[in-house]
Amino acid sequence: MFVDKAKIKVKAGDGGDGAVSFHREKYVAAGGPDGGDGGKGGNVIFVVDDNFSTLIDFRYKRKYIAENGENGGSRNCTGKNGSDLIVKVPRGTLVRDANTGRIIADLSSDEPKIIAKGGKGGKGNVHFASPTRQVPKFAKPGYPGEELEVKLELKLLADVGIVGFPNVGKSTLISSVSAAKPKIANYHFTTLAPVLGVVRIENERSFVMADIPGLIEGASDGVGLGHEFLRHVERCRLILHVVDVSGTEGRNPAEDFEIINRELSNFSAELAQCPQIVAANKCDIATPEQIEAFRSFVEEKGCKMFEISAATTKGTIALIQEIERVLDTLPPIKEYEAEPLSPKELDENAGKGQRFEITCEDGIYYVEAPWLESVMRTVDMDDYSSLQYFQRVLKNSGIIDRLREMGINEGDTVDIFGFEFDFVN
Ligand code: GDP
Ligand code: MG
Repeated sequence: MFVDKAKIKVKAGDGGDGAVSFHREKYVAAGGPDGGDGGKGGNVIFVVDDNFSTLIDFRYKRKYIAENGENGGSRNCTGKNGSDLIVKVPRGTLVRDANTGRIIADLSSDEPKIIAKGGKGGKGNVHFASPTRQVPKFAKPGYPGEELEVKLELKLLADVGIVGFPNVGKSTLISSVSAAKPKIANYHFTTLAPVLGVVRIENERSFVMADIPGLIEGASDGVGLGHEFLRHVERCRLILHVVDVSGTEGRNPAEDFEIINRELSNFSAELAQCPQIVAANKCDIATPEQIEAFRSFVEEKGCKMFEISAATTKGTIALIQEIERVLDTLPPIKEYEAEPLSPKELDENAGKGQRFEITCEDGIYYVEAPWLESVMRTVDMDDYSSLQYFQRVLKNSGIIDRLREMGINEGDTVDIFGFEFDFVN
């Protein structure tokens, strides 16, 4: 089954906690602190594997969790780092944040992409000894690993996308010019999934062609199978538009040509701009008048038409040579850039995964968190939206929850870097 969409959860490993421990040895009196650091949590990393051609595996397994870092130990032992989790995906997989649709990575090249970062390990108590604090009885907990839901979307990587009505001979063409062996039959929708074929040309060069099935009128609105597969044409550098010039099914080739083009531009303006070469297929059973009438129609549209017969391979060499010539003039296959978080998302996520400590002395709750200092500096307490942002940071980071756990009451004082305010539930 060809599956080109999936939604999964990924969770990177949490960092291990730092240890609290003191050096112990026979006959040695008071040993110093020797609690080691926690190990780093493993990342969730995606890599391309060309043995996969669909996302079907992700329909069955939906959670991908990397290993946590181990806690630190005594005798300065650092906890073991969690192993990265390597997830193999087919080439051309686009990874999006399921909540926002933001592109996180495009798995088109062989470069591995980190999708969720593991948390750092916490520091052991050995780091907290100072002349005035020789017996540090605390260590830092590890940071949580990133956790998110992602949508996977396969967008095939092909130089040339073959489009055209069902039964015009797209599959026959790809099987005659490449090693691809799609199903060919004289009925509509024989091909149910895009088929990639490598077309070898001179000097060991080659390009990739994709047979995109099922485009019919209304495809961009979801009629037939077309809409599902139009996505795969989006990366193509060139469109090969195949038309049955013999009109064997009582169709009008010029009309077919217009309908398919309308579907492409309804789907995306970018697709409408993609350069096109037209292949007039089934010339072996078409009359010279049919061919010439279609040629003048196509040329009037500013496109080039090639007379071919996919079944007998007549004219296909000239067609391939032209495709090769045009591809040389076009930019490479489109790769999508990762999209940064929008200001709104940054705002919503502010403070998440950050660490802090709270101590309570004489009824005042002191929040200690170095990262909060810069937040405090930018917040304008007299401005409503600025205050809301500040509250969101306190909530996202878990400071509010912790204060509640510690038993804070409405009206109690909270102190952050000397700035004091009343707790409001
Ligand atoms: P697709 O739906 O566009 O992939 O079309 P297919 O490649 O499955 O072909 C549909 C039918 O047209 C099959 O019966 C093919 O044998 C036939 N066909 C394809 N190319 C030609 C051709 O050049 N000449 C003739 N006479 N028939 C062809
Ligand atoms: Mg087909």
